Amino acid sequence: MFISILSWIEEQKKSKTQNQNKNSEPGSLWTRCDNCGTILYIKHLKENQCICFACGYHLQMNSRERIKNLIDIGTWRPLDETLSPCNPLDFYDQKTYTERIQDAQERTKLQDAILTGTGLLDEIPVALGVMDFSFMGGSMGSVVGEKITRLIEHAAREGYVLILICASGGARMQEGVLSLMQMAKIASALNIYQSSANLLYFSILTSPTTGGVTASFAMLGDLIFAEPNALIGFAGRRVIEQTLQEKLPENFQTSEYLLDHGLCDLIIPRSFLKQALYETILLYKDTPYKRIGKLPKNIQRPFNLLTEERIRRKYINNKNCDNEIEFLENFSFIDFSDQFSILNKFIYNSSINIFEEIDSDNFQEFEQLSTMYKEILTSLNILLNKN
Ligand SMILES: [Zn+2]
Repeated sequence: MFISILSWIEEQKKSKTQNQNKNSEPGSLWTRCDNCGTILYIKHLKENQCICFACGYHLQMNSRERIKNLIDIGTWRPLDETLSPCNPLDFYDQKTYTERIQDAQERTKLQDAILTGTGLLDEIPVALGVMDFSFMGGSMGSVVGEKITRLIEHAAREGYVLILICASGGARMQEGVLSLMQMAKIASALNIYQSSANLLYFSILTSPTTGGVTASFAMLGDLIFAEPNALIGFAGRRVIEQTLQEKLPENFQTSEYLLDHGLCDLIIPRSFLKQALYETILLYKDTPYKRIGKLPKNIQRPFNLLTEERIRRKYINNKNCDNEIEFLENFSFIDFSDQFSILNKFIYNSSINIFEEIDSDNFQEFEQLSTMYKEILTSLNILLNKN
């Protein structure tokens, strides 16, 4: 129940170093390590992927830097850049939620706490989502949930490997139940991606990954990687101690503790992450027992920007009328085919899948396809060598 004086002093010290760190101005040249307090030159720190030179502690890293480190230069294609949050509950505390969003957007130059998109990771096409803790503590509101869901659906349609890098304080309280329902929404999109489309999903846990994010997609990865010494948990340490009336072990809720208890698969330092992902994907690509995935029919197609804007305007005009449901029902949702795009099928699936796909007696067709496949590869090779 009571915290010992020593641990209280320790905590105060820690929060002091952290606060000093937070108070450093955005344009300043120096920062302080959250763990050992060493003063670090920001330019060198960024070149070292925000890992402390003195103690190897992994400091907070923003989403753009992470994308820069993981995705091959010039191949990043962002998705849903324009989605930004509104204030559906008219929530306010000392400030209104709208003001808080605007502050965070100006400070971080982000629309919300996540960047999503596709790109090549050592020439393998991947769909990547990177959460950003600097935007309102990386909290998951309806925009974060929607962007992740759309990314998963896109990856399922195109046959991409999915990688989500988590850094979050949990669900966004200012959006109440709308942010809580994102957990279920993402989990159901993931279910189609993993169980129907049979595709591979990596979840990368960084410090901190807590609350609703841990309780949904962070722990649903086919493979869960974590950064060393990251804080990963659901409820806060003190809450659990008070509920259980027990003292928790020193390394409780760290990635090492999770690994010991079978909740994550690998602890990987940031500097080796890209290589580890590349090698694991290659390993999975050649597994013999892979089954071809199929997407269920009647899944709603994503809206294009124009339709989205039309709906938004129509919604604003009809906001106060009783026929909201009726007018939403008027939009027709077109079915899409359950086929993956042909280029991905060839380049990405292993040869076993191509064999399974084609009737064995229809050998001619197979030969045609494999010639086409070879041609694609040759032309890609020529293109790459030219550059
Ligand atoms: Zn340090």
